[in-house]
Amino acid sequence: MGELYADIIVDISHEKLDKPFQYRVPDRLRDRLETGMCVTVPFGNGNRLIKGYVVDIGDTCKFDPGRIKEIQAVSRGDADVEDKMIALAGWIRKNYGSTMIQALKTVLPARKTVKKLEHRTIRRVMNREEILSLLGESIRKKQVAKERLLRELTEQETIPYEWVTGKLGVSAQTVKSLEKAGAVRILSTQSLRNPVRLEEQEERRRILSAEQIGIVGEVLADFDAGKPDTYLLHGITGSGKTEVYMKIIEEMVDRGKQAIVLIPEIALTYQTLLRFFRRFGHRVSVMNSTLSPGEKFDQCERARKGEIDVIIGPRSALFTPFPNLGIIVIDEEHENSYKSESSPKYHARETALEVARLHGASVLLGSATPSLEAYYRAESGEYKLFVLRKRLTGGDLPAVHIVDLRKELREGNRSIFSGKLQELLADRISRGEQSILFLNRRGYAGFVSCRACGYVVKCPHCDVSLSEHRGMRAGNGAGAGKSRMICHYCGYDAAAPEICPQCGSRYISGFRAGTQQIEEKLRDIFPKARILRMDADTTRTKDSYERILSAFSGGEADVLIGTQMIVKGHDFPQVTLVGVLAADLSLNSNDYRACERTFQLLTQAVGRAGRGTIPGEAVIQTYQPEHYAILRAAEQDYEGFYKEEILYREMLGYPPAAHMLAVQIFAGEEERGRAFAGRLAGIVRQMFEVQMNPRESRGYKGRERMPELQLIGPAPASVGKINDIFRFVFYVKCANYGKLVQVKDLLEEEIQKIQPVNESVQFDFDPVNMM
Ligand code: ADP
Ligand code: ZN
Ligand code: ZN
Repeated sequence: MGELYADIIVDISHEKLDKPFQYRVPDRLRDRLETGMCVTVPFGNGNRLIKGYVVDIGDTCKFDPGRIKEIQAVSRGDADVEDKMIALAGWIRKNYGSTMIQALKTVLPARKTVKKLEHRTIRRVMNREEILSLLGESIRKKQVAKERLLRELTEQETIPYEWVTGKLGVSAQTVKSLEKAGAVRILSTQSLRNPVRLEEQEERRRILSAEQIGIVGEVLADFDAGKPDTYLLHGITGSGKTEVYMKIIEEMVDRGKQAIVLIPEIALTYQTLLRFFRRFGHRVSVMNSTLSPGEKFDQCERARKGEIDVIIGPRSALFTPFPNLGIIVIDEEHENSYKSESSPKYHARETALEVARLHGASVLLGSATPSLEAYYRAESGEYKLFVLRKRLTGGDLPAVHIVDLRKELREGNRSIFSGKLQELLADRISRGEQSILFLNRRGYAGFVSCRACGYVVKCPHCDVSLSEHRGMRAGNGAGAGKSRMICHYCGYDAAAPEICPQCGSRYISGFRAGTQQIEEKLRDIFPKARILRMDADTTRTKDSYERILSAFSGGEADVLIGTQMIVKGHDFPQVTLVGVLAADLSLNSNDYRACERTFQLLTQAVGRAGRGTIPGEAVIQTYQPEHYAILRAAEQDYEGFYKEEILYREMLGYPPAAHMLAVQIFAGEEERGRAFAGRLAGIVRQMFEVQMNPRESRGYKGRERMPELQLIGPAPASVGKINDIFRFVFYVKCANYGKLVQVKDLLEEEIQKIQPVNESVQFDFDPVNMM
């Protein structure tokens, strides 16, 4: 039996992780030692005993074997915050696949010091009436930026300066001019590096409904009884979920506990944050992607020292090192952004359960359209389910019209707007009410194809079709004025061809179904309508997203056209019509979650109509009017959708009915990538065969049935190449997650032995995006 050696980290900070020290594993520990464990080791010249963490175990010695030191003991004792973070990293490594160092880097913030930032706030010095009269003036003069700031000032007395110049898109000059006019003052303070600081403002307290009180009571009773649990709160937007979160958090804080609130970045709006600030004042802090590493580190330090009780942020806020965590809230738990797209590809929902287990905390998930995963577990009793059915903000659910586009065409309507949608749009525009047109797709146009031979223009580096963009000029003479084509993966662009490179036909052009084209068509029909467009192209610059939204909610346009971004987060009380163009585009993708995603998007889109006092209507245009995802979304019937969708998942063994591991292979050379993928899949197939025969398998005793493993692939990924890197993938399906972890472990071992140079592998458990 050969010696074992362990890589040990003695200084646990993000930056020092890459410098582990190697120690010999003594025989008495060799069966017990695992990565992620805390050990004591002799260190330095004096062989002082210090604490360290195992990040890797192997059988090669990288030093002089005669001089290598030995691990003293596995240390036991009270797990402090640090130990919990290490244990968490170990869990992530095991369940999602990555190196221990990658996992540690995921959970630990980079240690960066930040200099004291100067912090500015804008304070209103005029009274509200005076501000309103200035507002009227700026509306008359069409000073839209100034108008946005003034509108905000009618509600808030103080606003962070960065928010105004950043998110509101108001220039420093405009702020100055308001200061000159005596409307505001710019105050400067040495900030405590809390990214958002507001004076504590009066909050309008709600008296909770009986349903809300019931939920709060049950969560707290379980917690107080020492049985913290996981809960799913299913309630449409406006049903009072956030109010429930805040009440529970408040109670937790009273018990000396802290709270983590995860909200998808796109929904982290000023309005949402303000509600938390009003309730929790300076004891709440925000973590988001605009913070520098130094500021993030700082937030973690403040949490560790007990200076804050509540942190709000996207996925990574889950790793805030609170000493006494009481609850983790995950709002909009169905959002895909909770899954990490880089290795380790962890899911915040699953990981939250482990964080909560380590801390003895509760987990509360909330959504209007729960993920199939969460609802499945709630149905099976693993999570407790709460339902809030009523919208508290008033407004009934909109009346929905489903339009069959095939029928429209048969009746001679070749426009992208059905007769019904045109009629309702005209009505809204004439009445001065707002409408939203939603297209589930980005860019001006889809692919460029030849109508004579079917040739499709693709990116030479990425194996995806190029999208046509009109209005983008070619850089130099040749092709100027003609449209350009862009790759949405790598940014490659080229002039659109005038004749088909394959057959020479002139009938080569863009497939016209983008937001830009909808805008043009809409202008043809309604030349007087004021139109705003929001998609990946109009929101490329920082904060343009927020600017378009606030312009629309400020009434600066009649119609907002956009892609999925417009159906999330923001609330527009004046919108009384929502039109969904080509609702089934997203049904056709090659992804087992296509129906779920379509249902979620349509439900959210339809729910945007009629939030205010005037009842709303929605039009869903589709080629598949009888599809259950479309019908159930039109009825806003989540349970009905769930019942049909889960049958399909169960029948085909897809998550959440079973589990799925995607093994993704990246290679510089196509043939070698293919061969490597084949080799790895072969290893799995071998293991699969061995385990089909119960007598040969250890670990399984008696008549216990073997979990069944299914292998799909390998094959080139649906996008077979990005940036000249070839991509292959195979899938392993199994009802038992632990089995898939074993598959991953085995492959990791093999890859460790092979030491590939030009190929790399990533694991993705229960992928939310098919590669
Ligand atoms: P959700 O998070 O489900 O969208 P919110 O908690 O934001 O719902 O509630 C929607 C609106 O209803 C908010 O304006 C909120 O202040 C209000 N609200 C919530 N609970 C109550 C209540 N018990 N009584 C009155 N208004 C409430
Ligand atoms: Zn052709
Ligand atoms: Zn490309």
